[in-house]
Amino acid sequence: MKTLNKIGLMTVLLGLGVSAVAETFRFTPEQLSTAAQLGKKASESDLAYQLDESLTTEVGARRVGTPADGRAVQWAVAKMNSLGFDKVWTEKVVTPGWHRGEIDISVSSPYPQRLVAITLGDSVGTPKGGINAEIVYFASVEALEKAEANSLNGKIAYIGKKMQPSIDGAGYGSTGKQRWGGGKIAEAKGAAALLIRSVGTDHDRIGHTGSQRGGSNIPAAALSSPDADLVENMLKRGKPVTIQLEITAKRIKDVVTYNVIGEVTGRNKPEDFVVLGSHLDSWDVGTGAIDDGMGVTITMAAAKHIIDSGKKPSRSIRVILFAAEEIGLYGVKQYAKAHKDKLKHHLIGAEWDSGVRAIHQIRPGVGPKSLAAIKQLAKVMQPYGVSLHNSNTAKGQSDISVLGNAGMPAINFDSDLSDYFDYHHTENDTMANVPPATMKQASAIYTIFAWLAADSDIDFRK
Ligand code: ZN
Ligand code: ZN
Repeated sequence: MKTLNKIGLMTVLLGLGVSAVAETFRFTPEQLSTAAQLGKKASESDLAYQLDESLTTEVGARRVGTPADGRAVQWAVAKMNSLGFDKVWTEKVVTPGWHRGEIDISVSSPYPQRLVAITLGDSVGTPKGGINAEIVYFASVEALEKAEANSLNGKIAYIGKKMQPSIDGAGYGSTGKQRWGGGKIAEAKGAAALLIRSVGTDHDRIGHTGSQRGGSNIPAAALSSPDADLVENMLKRGKPVTIQLEITAKRIKDVVTYNVIGEVTGRNKPEDFVVLGSHLDSWDVGTGAIDDGMGVTITMAAAKHIIDSGKKPSRSIRVILFAAEEIGLYGVKQYAKAHKDKLKHHLIGAEWDSGVRAIHQIRPGVGPKSLAAIKQLAKVMQPYGVSLHNSNTAKGQSDISVLGNAGMPAINFDSDLSDYFDYHHTENDTMANVPPATMKQASAIYTIFAWLAADSDIDFRK
């Protein structure tokens, strides 16, 4: 009877002009139960944590252009080979070079004292001997934009917007722009240098570094949060505040780095693959344990849990450790260019590049027919405290968003970002602030995702 019903249904479908090619938009019970088992095993394993400990102990901070970045590439290739990936290779990436040098900053008047700040990425240096200039306060980038032309001639522009913590890290966008856009605007108004309040939510006496955008040609640095308070309190007393600032940073010739790619080859359609993304480079403060050591090792561990199960997924899994994310997504841009003609083989992707707390929600960005499968995937992840968000527009985090915007379906696994920006781009980005429990939970989530997406034959674009 069952067979007859199937034939009957097919006849009706054909009669309606629906393609006879089977299109499954749901995972099978077997795929779901394997995913649940793999997730359980990953959630009990400290492999991701151990890999991050290995990366940060044996390599440490690995800013693009430093010898450590090269050692990180070697570490990643050797580690992927030893974990049993079927194929491991590198792809060359060329990026602008930059030398951080030193920073020396203090208040010269009216209350002379030393300050703590960090130079922003790609900043030029000051003239030898430094700049001694009055600072002009702006509450935000928007306020700086309203300053009259030439009104900052020879002065130091200071932007003091404070980032507020929240579960979705929304404050990063509104305060981050003082870092990535402030320099160019201050330069256009005639400023000799830019100072900002660090883009972060901690109260530690350390600065938050990070990239600028737009190639400003004035020196730029971020004051630690307590030092930003100090300078603002001086300004409140009504007298001009003069700062002595010397930065020896400089732009240098282009440098070479590499995307590192490891593949678990599929048994049926090896040419099609699911992408797990992260970035291998870090800033040169802390050890890059969180940003993005966590992403590198969570995604490597997810693949390893699948390798260890002895089951081959139907389609391949590609773990990509992108180069040079921090200085402007150079690795993924190079990758997208090189693999432009193969984009359709990139089935779906997800990256980990933010958070120290557990994943709490799934935001998909898939074709409408695939949503039924995403609901099934969310159900397997439910025991780990993850819920499905009522939206379908995600493009993926960081590097993966470049591929997402080019048309690859993506999923954002959002972690609770309430305290991520306490550590972000600072000396506190170390293993001491990597919670082992988050590593286990996130490994389970990425393992479940990788298995279900790779073992099915779902076209997530539909
Ligand atoms: Zn990152
Ligand atoms: Zn970063």
